[in-house]
Amino acid sequence: ILSPIGRPTVTQELSENVILTTVDDLYNWARLSSLWPLLFGTACCFIEFAALIGSRFDFDRFGLIPRSSPRQADLIITAGTITMKMAPQLVRLYEQMPEPKYVIAMGACTITGGMFSVDSPTAVRGVDKLIPVDVYLPGCPPRPEAIIDAIIKLRKKIANDSMQERGVIKQTHRYYSTTHN
Ligand code: SF4
Repeated sequence: ILSPIGRPTVTQELSENVILTTVDDLYNWARLSSLWPLLFGTACCFIEFAALIGSRFDFDRFGLIPRSSPRQADLIITAGTITMKMAPQLVRLYEQMPEPKYVIAMGACTITGGMFSVDSPTAVRGVDKLIPVDVYLPGCPPRPEAIIDAIIKLRKKIANDSMQERGVIKQTHRYYSTTHN
């Protein structure tokens, strides 16, 4: 397309897409480099997660800093059996985390109820019945190396995220409108 003086112009649609893609890349790079997981261990799987925090596996090198408050976390790794009694607390913690947020389901008990799925009346048969799961990490328990692999998979997923699709722009705008008017 040529402007009245003969110079090429960029259509509005194209210009919006170029800007959004660039912001997405920058935003995603920052987020995938500094995931802050909420500590959420309910059974033996968490022992492997705890090993990851130590110097041998050193998951700080991925920018992961464990948090104790859902307000400061953007990732929850559900490590262990989820019971019916624990389910409302898990959902509440998840809802208290700011968007965009992610979930890794760690271990057979979290993913399907594991050995408790046969006849336990108290085990939740799959954490994805409560909250949306981004990465499934099977095993009993998964080794720390497998957790690192799950985190790398999540980072790849975040790298292709779109702020528009996740509604972050809308939410930021809504937040700005309610706090600055
Ligand atoms: Fe424990 Fe295995 Fe269940 Fe993990 S999957 S909580 S290690 S029984």
